[in-house]
Amino acid sequence: MHSALIYTDAYVNYQYSDSHPLKPYRLRLTHALMQSYGLLQLPQSCVRETVPAAQAELELFHTPEYLQVLQAAGAGKRTIPYDRYGLGPGDNPIFPGMYTWSQLCAGGALQATRLVASREVDVAFHVAGGLHHGRPDHASGFCYVNDLAIAITELVQQGYRVAYIDVDVHHGDGVQAAFYDTDRVLTISLHESGRFLFPGTGFVEEIGVGQGQGYAVNLPFPPGTDDALFSEGFAAIVPPLVEAYKPDVVVTQLVVDTFHDDPLAHGELTTAGFVAVLQHLKTLAPRWIATGGGGYNLTNVARAWTLAWGMMNDVEIPDALPEGVLPLLRQAGYEGRTLRDPASPTSQARHNRLRVEVHAAIAYLEWHVFPIHGIH
Ligand SMILES: [Zn+2]
Repeated sequence: MHSALIYTDAYVNYQYSDSHPLKPYRLRLTHALMQSYGLLQLPQSCVRETVPAAQAELELFHTPEYLQVLQAAGAGKRTIPYDRYGLGPGDNPIFPGMYTWSQLCAGGALQATRLVASREVDVAFHVAGGLHHGRPDHASGFCYVNDLAIAITELVQQGYRVAYIDVDVHHGDGVQAAFYDTDRVLTISLHESGRFLFPGTGFVEEIGVGQGQGYAVNLPFPPGTDDALFSEGFAAIVPPLVEAYKPDVVVTQLVVDTFHDDPLAHGELTTAGFVAVLQHLKTLAPRWIATGGGGYNLTNVARAWTLAWGMMNDVEIPDALPEGVLPLLRQAGYEGRTLRDPASPTSQARHNRLRVEVHAAIAYLEWHVFPIHGIH
């Protein structure tokens, strides 16, 4: 078997709140779009129903105390000082079943990990994962548990070398912090600069400590970054480092809140930039655990991750959306009839101005991090 998609319809039973930007419905929409293209019945590919993680598995990264609090919150217990754990009105609201939701998010990551580690598949895609802000003892940035840190911890315990690549518009702070002092995990995050965006970290100078020095890598981009600039930054940093590091497994977070019409950030990417990055990732990752993550324009999520799943399976997907799925996409706000975004005109002057900033960051990494990996 070549690939596995980890999915359950049960995701939509959980709602952060009516007004919260993270909508589990986008996962069903993604599944529906993949299905409409016939991508869920491919030879050499399977769909696995998500299995919730056990508490002991969540404890690979999270404290028992925090997990108890999460469980109590999800069950409606009101007497705990939840704000101490990052829970409450705002980013991480308390909602019924939030513990089970978290078990599903973490469980899917472990399933993907085990399928890839055992060589049952070469690539596993866990669309409900990618919760890269979660901390051991508190929730952060819509992430109650950190499925990535849980999965990578299991891989490290089994002796694997792991490269983690994060293309979310927000810095992957939770995963970076989890492995900041070790060389067993290379974390690379490409994101909008912390000067402008949550969580306010991920500066180029953050390169790890002790044994981990040179094994945390950050490439911040200015607001307004487009396809060409993002691909250029990615190509300059990620392939040389991953090739030098020689990981056993590559874990990626494939969020699309970098897109031009995402409501939470200021990126200018389109599906073309996303596909360009995916093409690189594919060659770097013979054993690949892919996760979703955020993405607050629901139909961007569905279209981009359908493209990603097609690429993982070497299927060229026609651009015309199947008629049957159009009403669902319309309902979710998409007026187009194509899977891919139309080419967006870029302003050369703006591109050149932003490019200077990105090149300064690349130069910093080439000077301070590349030599640690023997790249000169
Ligand atoms: Zn994000």
